[in-house]
Amino acid sequence: MGLTPVWRLRERAATAERALADAPAASNEQRATGDESRLSEAERRRAAIMRLDWAALKARVASCTDCPLHEKRNKTVFGVGDERAEWVFVGEGPGADEDARGEPFVGQAGKLLDNMLAAIQLKRGENVFICNVVKCRPPGNRNPERSEALACEPYLHRQIELIKPRLIVALGRIAAANLLATDASIASLRGRIHRYRGIPLIVTYHPAYLLRNLPDKAKAWADLCFAVGVMRDLQSGKAADNRESVKGE
Ligand code: URA
Ligand code: SF4
Repeated sequence: MGLTPVWRLRERAATAERALADAPAASNEQRATGDESRLSEAERRRAAIMRLDWAALKARVASCTDCPLHEKRNKTVFGVGDERAEWVFVGEGPGADEDARGEPFVGQAGKLLDNMLAAIQLKRGENVFICNVVKCRPPGNRNPERSEALACEPYLHRQIELIKPRLIVALGRIAAANLLATDASIASLRGRIHRYRGIPLIVTYHPAYLLRNLPDKAKAWADLCFAVGVMRDLQSGKAADNRESVKGE
């Protein structure tokens, strides 16, 4: 699936971020002519996004035209929930219903996600933030291109940096691939704790996949139980990294 470029770009972006962070004494003018002039357009963009507060970030996404997905979208889908949520669920991208409403997971897959949340005593908007890898609908529900996911990644990065969740749940292969820069299968990624920019992350099946593959619902249930256990450990300050799930297989 050729994920190496994503990784390299991320590394470069991280280096650029460090370069900016390491130059706090420089005036804005010096920065404009010094450090920042050595940065690529993409790196400058990411650095600018990483300075936005929640309201400015929301406004910026609402008017974003930074990748081709803006051309056919109706509404951008920033995400829903509170800014201080302990849980963040990340899907792939808006579908037709989400594009029309401007809210993630409001179609059939969304109903299942709400049921999955209810099964572990969670509720949309209460201690949970739900969003996607890309904020605009890929036409015809195709997978987002790597370049589109990369263009949108600074928004997700900033959302997560501001929310500071205890745990991220990646829903499906596209979310896992982009958050973890891997092309490994969901089957091989579930039942373990990964990290996205330092935050514990677990992987499970996408609800739309579960609607088509009902027998795998049992595995998703095992993943949710695992997630609850990990969250309990994190909340009580216990190291959760050694926890292993019974994968329900
Ligand atoms: N599928 C997703 O990945 N995200 C949504 O918001 C809706 C369906
Ligand atoms: Fe901007 Fe993301 Fe929408 Fe692309 S998908 S136009 S980067 S908000």
